[in-house]
Order: sequence, then structure tokens, then C-alpha cells
Amino acid sequence: MRLPYLLLDVDGVLIPFPAADGTTPPTHARYDVVPTGRSADKPVTVWLHPDHGRLLLNVIRTGLVTPVWCTSWQQDATTLIGPLLGLPSLPHVDLPRPQIATSHPNGYLWKRDHVDSWLADAPAVWIDDDFTDLDHGWAAERVAKGTATLLVQPDPRLGLQPEHLTEVAMWVSQLPAARAA
Ligand SMILES: [Mg+2]
Repeated sequence: MRLPYLLLDVDGVLIPFPAADGTTPPTHARYDVVPTGRSADKPVTVWLHPDHGRLLLNVIRTGLVTPVWCTSWQQDATTLIGPLLGLPSLPHVDLPRPQIATSHPNGYLWKRDHVDSWLADAPAVWIDDDFTDLDHGWAAERVAKGTATLLVQPDPRLGLQPEHLTEVAMWVSQLPAARAA
């Protein structure tokens, strides 16, 4: 059995939403980055948890998942965000720039159709803060067809928590690919 992909979102997962008053969590360190296509004098401020790199590496280094960015940050996730967390260069799912005002234009996450094509019948655990019931239904259908699939959905106001990665590690460890390793 193939290794499952670990699809990883950025906004709402590694970068939790700011509070209503605009403040960012004191647990997260702030950085200015310049995304592709933006001029250097207009950086974007991001905030990242100093433990997230280590926690993600613990999962990646098991060798039981194939990590892939799945975010509107696209290539910038690997060039700008990953290094701030001490993560190695990772591939990304090539998503289009969303030309939409909502993340659920059809009642489900805008990324999903692209991810569905990209994955085909590959097993996957997908961490994103923005799934709807329809996305959970999509995952359940994949499981019913025999394709190991897990959606992990952090609260975007809190972002990724250690227990999310514990859940990923436990899920991965009980797959046939892990048991054969
Ligand atoms: Mg998100």
C-alpha cells in the first residue's frame, strides 16, 4: 500500500486567525514575509508557533506519510513559511488562485475538487480548518471505497494543536503501509 499523503493547510492551521481586536496569539512569533508577486515594501505579517516545526517533523520523520502543502500560499508555503518552522522543502498541491469570495462556493471547501483529482485514489490525511459537512461526507465516501482518508480540522481561532498531530500519527500507524514497514 502506498504511503498516505499528509496535506497541510497554512491559514487557520499554522497561522490561527487573529482575535476580534486584531491581536495575534502570544504563543506565536510574528514575522514579516513577502509573498510572490508582492513588492518588498509591502510585506505580510504572519505568526507561527515555535513548536509546530518540531511536532510536524516528528510525524514526517516516521517516514509513514508523504507531506505536501495544500494552501493558497502555494509555493510560498515551502519557500517562506516552512523555513520559519525549520521544515524541509516540501512539494505543494498546485491550487488555482481562488477567484471566489467564499471558501465554500458549492457548499464545500474550494480546494476539494483539485485535491480529489490530485489524489485520485491515494490515501490521505488532510489538515485544514475549513471543511464542511460535505467534505466530511466526501472523506467518508473515500473510506467506504477502501481509500484510507482522515480529515483533521483545527479550530481556526486556535490553529494546530499537538493532539491533532497525535491523531495523525495514530491513524497513520494503523494503516497497512505502516504495519508492513
Ligand atoms: Mg485554512
